[in-house]
Amino acid sequence: MTPYERRTEAVRSALATAGADAAVCVPGRTLQYLTGFDEPQRDRHFLLVIPASGEPTGFVPSLSAAQFSRETWVRAVETWDDADDPVTALGALFDDLGIPEAPHLLVDDTMWAAFLQDVRSVRPRATIGLASEVVSKLRIRKDDAELDALRRAARVADDAVRAVRGLGSDAVGLTETDLAERIESFLTDAGGEGVSFEPIVGSGPHGAMPHHTHGDRVIRAGEPVVLDFGARVDGYPGDQTRTLVFGGDPDERVREVHDLVRRAQEAAVGAAEPGVPAAAVDDAARSVVEAAGYGDAFIHRTGHGVGLDVHEPPSIAADNDVELRPGMVFSVEPGVYLDDEFGVRIEDLVVVTEAGCERLNHTSRGWEC
Ligand code: ZN
Ligand code: ZN
Repeated sequence: MTPYERRTEAVRSALATAGADAAVCVPGRTLQYLTGFDEPQRDRHFLLVIPASGEPTGFVPSLSAAQFSRETWVRAVETWDDADDPVTALGALFDDLGIPEAPHLLVDDTMWAAFLQDVRSVRPRATIGLASEVVSKLRIRKDDAELDALRRAARVADDAVRAVRGLGSDAVGLTETDLAERIESFLTDAGGEGVSFEPIVGSGPHGAMPHHTHGDRVIRAGEPVVLDFGARVDGYPGDQTRTLVFGGDPDERVREVHDLVRRAQEAAVGAAEPGVPAAAVDDAARSVVEAAGYGDAFIHRTGHGVGLDVHEPPSIAADNDVELRPGMVFSVEPGVYLDDEFGVRIEDLVVVTEAGCERLNHTSRGWEC
């Protein structure tokens, strides 16, 4: 059995517990997780129906049938072509699969409303829940294949950080966008298969805006630059942040805040272990920042789960009492943001182990290049 088949089997067996007759998935992260098929949702009806009893079956536009069969383990495939009415064909498939007249269906969270209406029209008495009810519980703990990909993606990010550090004073005078372009090519050179998200290069005051991407501001010597980026490997993203200073030493306040964020990040990583709530990791970082008087400047949660999605459960936030379990992967990324001055964020991905947690990123967390 491939990891994909194992995951699908786990979903299938969870359906009974959830009181559901079937899960109905669309192209997107769920289908990618269950089959490896990595295509976006498009205007033609394209579903994977996983009945509680019976064989998972693709409902595939005929023009995609060969690709779907070649790229996935799914052998039961019903096709329809452009001369057919897809809704009639879907009704016939539901009948064939023995889906009852008033089923409880778990539909993919990202299914377009238009497709959901068609599912409703073939089973008007259905009650509808979300597939995440069963899929999230699986996705939140990474299996070996996922951990392997996440580790390799973390290495790509680490290699790119080393290359950025290697620029040293050559980064002074570049615009943020110039540096973002360099970062993208460093990530590609290191084996990345496309960026996880638009790289963030927040120089000087721009660093005080956590989601500023990059612009035409020119990087100056001695100022902190928030650098947050990653690339995908086998579908899984890297995501790390370093706050570096190019071409000179930073002033005393920057050093103080940088050191503070570093200690907060260390404390949070130290608090991550099986059995503790996600909130405890947030609290560990936040109490360090608060004790130093910068609590109001730490304006976001401490981290987020990372898997096929760059942001997914578990959220490492004050209100999340989800218990950490081995195999969970998330970011630990406290930050301090001083409006119109500068920002500092330091981020590593960690995986929860049986004994504690292990960082996936290993480059220096200092500001020095
Ligand atoms: Zn990040
Ligand atoms: Zn992140």
